[in-house]
Amino acid sequence: MLIFCFLHGDVDSLYRFWYNQYDIMITKGGAALIRDILLKFNIDSFAALPDSACKAANERLFSLLPGGCSVIFVLFPYYSGDCNGLISSYGAVYDYHTLAKEVFSALEGYVKEKYPGRFARGFADHSPFLEVEGAARAGLGIIGKNSLLITEKYSSYVFIGELVCSLTEEELDLEGIPTVSAEPRCCEDCGRCSRACPTGAVRDKSRKSCISSLTQKKGDLSAKEAALIKTGGSIWGCDACQAACPYTQKALEKGTLLTPIGFFRDSYIGDRDPVGSVEKMDDCTFEKYPFAWRKRKTVTRNITIIKGNEKND
Ligand code: SF4
Ligand code: SF4
Repeated sequence: MLIFCFLHGDVDSLYRFWYNQYDIMITKGGAALIRDILLKFNIDSFAALPDSACKAANERLFSLLPGGCSVIFVLFPYYSGDCNGLISSYGAVYDYHTLAKEVFSALEGYVKEKYPGRFARGFADHSPFLEVEGAARAGLGIIGKNSLLITEKYSSYVFIGELVCSLTEEELDLEGIPTVSAEPRCCEDCGRCSRACPTGAVRDKSRKSCISSLTQKKGDLSAKEAALIKTGGSIWGCDACQAACPYTQKALEKGTLLTPIGFFRDSYIGDRDPVGSVEKMDDCTFEKYPFAWRKRKTVTRNITIIKGNEKND
């Protein structure tokens, strides 16, 4: 479907170029164009801040940016099911970096086409900015006691990425898009995530006992670390603090928790024998999931621990 929009009713000002791949005509500019592109991927949450309102997370990447840029925070809701707690929700769907690459490459292409010579670059994970802090400051959600961004629609089951581009506020034309540069809001600290955490890691700032981190740790584990993984019962990641959050319950009740993004929904491992499904995965399929980052050896080690056959030091 082609999307047509007549800016100010001036037909002569229409851009008549479009990328066939996404069927988008560049008749709009700024935030309206960005929204159209994101909607092609069923992504409906984004907001912008000037880079001066964002905190640096990676000084090297930060120093490579031209300065005076806008930062468009984009949310990737991913919840597709919980694999009965045997694999965390983010681990049970394809790695979001693959989708983020495609989304940001489309955004970069369109911005550069519409505004020749401008800087546009997408980031996911390896970001110049503190993503949770920036997204919360931009009005996309609040910061939870578990350090995650919590949104009203998808709770904390969202990945964050951002497009950094040298468009001015006027060019972005952010009418109707949240742009809040006040201090980020935090959750009400109801304590449910702390009580649900099997290891007390929510209260421990070092997160050393966090099962999600331990399942990703390479190499041999101590007996204590293996016991913590076994307590959690998941072969990759842990959702206990997210699942217990009242925002997750509210999103479930409203029916908004499930991601609208096919990339995630279609790749969900499923509730029926999820561990067996991972064990039987061919290498090509295995490589598409987030746990491939730590190779099959690490995942197999975790499976062995969960099944109770581990030999600890
Ligand atoms: S469970 Fe309560 S304290 Fe924890 S993140 Fe959710 S709202 Fe905050
Ligand atoms: S991911 Fe699991 S272990 Fe880590 S803080 Fe949350 S509930 Fe605790």
